[in-house]
Amino acid sequence: EAKTDHYFTTLEDVQQLLKPRRKFSHKGLYGHALLLCGSLGKMGAAVLAARACLRSGVGLLTVHAPSVGYSILQTAVPEAMTLSDPNRRVLSKLPDQMDKYSVVGAGPGIGTERQTKTVIGQLLATTSLPLVLDADAINLVGSSDRLKAQLPRNRVIFTPHPKEFERLVGKSKDDYDRLENMREFCREYACYMVLKGSHSAICTPEGEVYFNTTGNPGMATGGTGDVLTGIVTALVAQNYTLKEACLLGVYLHGLAGDLARETVGEISLIASDLIEQLPKAFRRLA
Ligand code: AMP
Ligand code: MG
Repeated sequence: EAKTDHYFTTLEDVQQLLKPRRKFSHKGLYGHALLLCGSLGKMGAAVLAARACLRSGVGLLTVHAPSVGYSILQTAVPEAMTLSDPNRRVLSKLPDQMDKYSVVGAGPGIGTERQTKTVIGQLLATTSLPLVLDADAINLVGSSDRLKAQLPRNRVIFTPHPKEFERLVGKSKDDYDRLENMREFCREYACYMVLKGSHSAICTPEGEVYFNTTGNPGMATGGTGDVLTGIVTALVAQNYTLKEACLLGVYLHGLAGDLARETVGEISLIASDLIEQLPKAFRRLA
């Protein structure tokens, strides 16, 4: 058994990755992201992911949500276009014209009802877009061998927290075992993974592991993961490779948390504070 390839992402690494905005560019060059997020009582997850996506440089953003979320999103996130699912409470179908998007971010707040599982199944089986799968999208894939078998190769990023990781990959004996299981899973399914925690670990389809070096325990609060989904989705929309989007997105997310800590402290920190600090985090890298 070969030794694990472990790396730590540093400020210099991610500074090299960040691409400056070109003077004669227009929004068409920065991608059109689609977010599939939210359900009755969990529209906040969609709002957080959408705002984070917009603050991370995406050209255009469309959010597809159950109809209960329509006016919520139009009011809370005026920069985003909103598509209303025929179902009021949960996602029940994919939007038309999937080919006009550059990436799909799915999962925050969607729940695990049967009709939503069908939507995730269609997403895996019928689109050729890169996919950022988080939260209940991960739980749904984890609950079904049929969905796992449909995972497209080299264009999915999973962003599980440890519980979601266990549902997707299975139980691990300890932290070391969990890293090995992550590497094995990413190789088998040719996917990328961000295993979130106090030092989030990023894994490539080749089994390389990168440990993030930003972030703090103030981020252990509801909604911070939804913010990460928005950031990573925006970076993929802007043509960063999936690996770059993971490394850069996780670093920026933690840096925004560290900047938020300077003003609100760890105890009072909430997910919206990360979005508020994203502009400063991006400027730190530029
Ligand atoms: P989620 O559980 O999906 O809301 O995601 C939580 C986010 O907060 C992830 O990006 C974690 O990496 C981050 N996070 C949670 N706890 C800590 C911690 N103790 N230190 C640093 N980051 C954390
Ligand atoms: Mg989460």
